[in-house]
Amino acid sequence: MKYVVLIGDGMSDYPLDELNGKTPLQVADKPNIDELTLKGRTGQLKTIPDNLNPGSDVANMGIFGYDPQKYYSGRGPLEAASMGIEVSKDDVIFRCNLITEKNGILDDFNAGHITSYEAAILINNLNEYFQDKGEFYPGISYRHLFIRKDEQLKDLKTTPPHDIFGKKIDDYINWSDKNSLAIKDMILDSKKVLEDHEINKKRIANNKKPANMIWLWGQGLKPNMPKFKDLYGINGSTITAVDLIKGLGVFSGLNNIDVPGATGYFDTDYKSKGKYAVNALKDSNILFIHVESPDEAGHAGNIDEKIKAIEQIDEKILKPIINNIASFGDYKIAILPDHATPIDIRTHTRDLVPLAIYSSCDGSDDVKSYDEKSAAKGSLGLDNAFNLIGKLINS
Ligand SMILES: [Zn+2]
Repeated sequence: MKYVVLIGDGMSDYPLDELNGKTPLQVADKPNIDELTLKGRTGQLKTIPDNLNPGSDVANMGIFGYDPQKYYSGRGPLEAASMGIEVSKDDVIFRCNLITEKNGILDDFNAGHITSYEAAILINNLNEYFQDKGEFYPGISYRHLFIRKDEQLKDLKTTPPHDIFGKKIDDYINWSDKNSLAIKDMILDSKKVLEDHEINKKRIANNKKPANMIWLWGQGLKPNMPKFKDLYGINGSTITAVDLIKGLGVFSGLNNIDVPGATGYFDTDYKSKGKYAVNALKDSNILFIHVESPDEAGHAGNIDEKIKAIEQIDEKILKPIINNIASFGDYKIAILPDHATPIDIRTHTRDLVPLAIYSSCDGSDDVKSYDEKSAAKGSLGLDNAFNLIGKLINS
C-alpha cells in the first residue's frame, strides 16, 4: 500500500463577496481533487489545539502524526533541524530576526528583506560581541537562529515580530527575572553593534531599511519525537520548500526530498514537484507533499493567486500522481490544508479544515466535490489531525 498526503497550505477560506459568496476552493477548477472526493470519503480535521497558536508548524506536526500538545516545542528547533544544526538537549533555540527599529517602535520585522550576504556579516559581528551569551547561526535573509544553554528560557513568553509591527518594542520584552533579562539586554544591546554598522549606513544611503536590531522569539528545546517508522511501521518522504516542514521531516526521520524550482511562493515549479513526487513513490511507503503558495496568496489577500495555486496543485502535482500510483498496487490519497488562511483576514485561523481521502480499496460517501462546506457532511466526521496517519494506515 502507498500513501500520499497532499497539503495545500492555507488553502481553505471563507465565502467571499467577490466570488458571489463562494470560497476559492469552490470556484477553482480542480477536476482531479474532485474526482478523488467523488470516489472517496470526506470529513473535517481539527489541526490547531486550543492552547497553541495557529501556525503551520503546529498544524503540520499533527498532520505528520504527532500530537502537537505532546511534541511541539517551538519554531526555533524545527528551523535548526532544517538547517542541519546539531543541538544538544539543554540548548534553547531561538529564531532571531533582523528587524528595523525606529524610535522604540518595531518598524519592519524583516529589515527590508535584507540580503543573506549582508545579514551574514551582521550575524558574524553579533557573534563576536555576544560571544559569552550563546551562538548565532546565519540563515536566509532576515531569518537566523540563536542558541543558548539555559533551559529555563524555553518558557519565556516571546512574541512573533510580525505580530507587533508598528508597536512599542518595550511592551513585548517586559520581562523581569534574571534569565529573561539577559535576553532583553541582548535585544536592546544589539543596536550598539548594528546601528552604525557600515552595512546599515549603505542601506540607509540606498533608501533601504537598516537591520538595526535583533528580535528573539519562537524558542524551544529540541523536540523529543519518536521516529515515524517506529510509530507507524513504514518509511516515508517529504517534499516541501518550507524550513519548518523540513524540520518536521528531520525530527521524524522522514526523507526530505529537495525539489529544484520549489520556492514556497507563487512562482514555485509545480510541475517539478509533481515529477519528484511520482519519482519518490518508488522508495516511499508514505509521501507528504506540502505546497506553500495558497497560504502566501491568503496572506497577500490575493483571490486570483489562491485559485490559481489550487488549480496548479490539482493539475501539475495531483494528476501525475494519480496517473502513476496504481502501478505500485493499492493506495490511499489524502487531501487537506493545514489551516485556513482566509483572504479577508490575511492570517491563519483555527477553523476546522476539509479532508478528502480516496482509497483504492474502499467505497465512497455522498460528497461529490471538495470544499469547506461539503466536507463537513462527509462520512469521516470530525477528528484531531494527529489521528489522521494512524487511521490512514490502520483502517
Ligand atoms: Zn500553514
